Amino acid sequence: MKTAVITGASRGIGRACAVRLAKDGYAVVINYSRSEEEAQKALDIVKANGGEGMIYRADVTDPEQAKALIREAEKAYGQIDVLVNNAGMVKDAYLLMLETKSLDKCFDLNVKGYFYCAQAAALKMFRKKSGVIINMSSVSGDMALAGQSVYSATKGAINSMTRVLARELGERGIRVNAVAPGFIETEMIDVLPPDKKEEYLKAVPMHRFGTADEVANVVSWLASNACAYVTGQIITMDGGLSL
Ligand code: NAP
Repeated sequence: MKTAVITGASRGIGRACAVRLAKDGYAVVINYSRSEEEAQKALDIVKANGGEGMIYRADVTDPEQAKALIREAEKAYGQIDVLVNNAGMVKDAYLLMLETKSLDKCFDLNVKGYFYCAQAAALKMFRKKSGVIINMSSVSGDMALAGQSVYSATKGAINSMTRVLARELGERGIRVNAVAPGFIETEMIDVLPPDKKEEYLKAVPMHRFGTADEVANVVSWLASNACAYVTGQIITMDGGLSL
């Protein structure tokens, strides 16, 4: 069965991607690291919509667990067609307040985790000479938002990685693209102080934050054959924030 693995799919953007890709006909593997109940809720939504899927616990910052996620997904459904590298975190702090351990955590998840999963999935996709990898980046990969030096650096790294992997894997029929959302209403945004939220809303020409479903629409489109000749691209969707 056509299969999509989505990292960090217990909630937020990842969950919306899982629900959407299941509607598109993929068996979805909903990865989570801690929130089992939330992951189960995501699977319940998939099934309520007539979809197929499973949940799988793996901390993708551990290369062995990332490999196991891809291995078990293949074992369950026979193949891996789409990987959505989505599990990420934000560690906002001004330079002088930055703690080494938050720097490490952010790079471990937002950069190394993406590499580990891409490597494991590409190995499976190599054999069937087809596959799609979609990396969840952010407008912060290109934009300079004060307090986001670490987060921006990780997302900038993802944009570079996306382009290089697209070049490396193209001849194997594997497409690699990234989605760069602006502010999206998820728990990640909920933690912002109200005055910051207000400031950001004013900065968005469309004067609203995006929704996880709107990100999932772009992911679904990139995964589809409508994008069969699209690779190495960073698709920005931010209500005009970065203009
Ligand atoms: P979120 O609501 O905080 O969800 C994060 C997800 O990542 C959860 O499912 C969490 O599951 C999972 N996760 C965390 N650590 C993990 C680990 N070590 N291994 C596996 N899964 C792990 O985040 P979100 O807002 O949906 O963001 C998703 C992605 O979109 C991130 O890459 C983020 O940078 C990007 N993005 C978000 C926004 C935004 O405004 N929200 C904007 C641009 C880009 P557990 O709880 O089970 O650990």
